[in-house]
Amino acid sequence: MQAPNVSPVEMLSGNDSASERASGELTSPVSAFDGTQPAVANLNSPLLAALQAAATDSRDENIEILVNSGWRSAAYQNQLLEKAVSKYGSPEEAARWVATAETSAHVSGDAVDVAHFDAIGWLSEHGEKYGLCQIYANESWHFELRTDAQASGCPPLFRDPTEDPKMHP
Ligand SMILES: [Zn+2]
Repeated sequence: MQAPNVSPVEMLSGNDSASERASGELTSPVSAFDGTQPAVANLNSPLLAALQAAATDSRDENIEILVNSGWRSAAYQNQLLEKAVSKYGSPEEAARWVATAETSAHVSGDAVDVAHFDAIGWLSEHGEKYGLCQIYANESWHFELRTDAQASGCPPLFRDPTEDPKMHP
């Protein structure tokens, strides 16, 4: 099975209805400062503050950090998981890409998927300064806050989410 090079979120095409926005769905990348989007506004505030600080600094290098996906409702996460199971053919394979609502760091407001490879590249180089770390080798776009990263660096990557103990509560 070929690995996708886009966030699973991009597999869903949706209309920009109010209810979809309320679930955290984004039809196109948005600014880290767009407080009208629940996907951004519902992120945990330390993560959001770190992201906004990085987005401000990256502008000096003409890199715009945009959010492809942030906070998601449990219902939206489950919808993504269902789509992933049908795309990848089994729950086991889907689990490498999309977490359940119970385990997803997006549902708890602790994760952000960054749009565009230049911004992902900038954050993978500089994110540690803000506590923003990549977590999974197969999801370069997915960042979470690790507050001790400023002192001790980002933790080693998990190959994919199935290696992450927090996916197996
Ligand atoms: Zn993610």
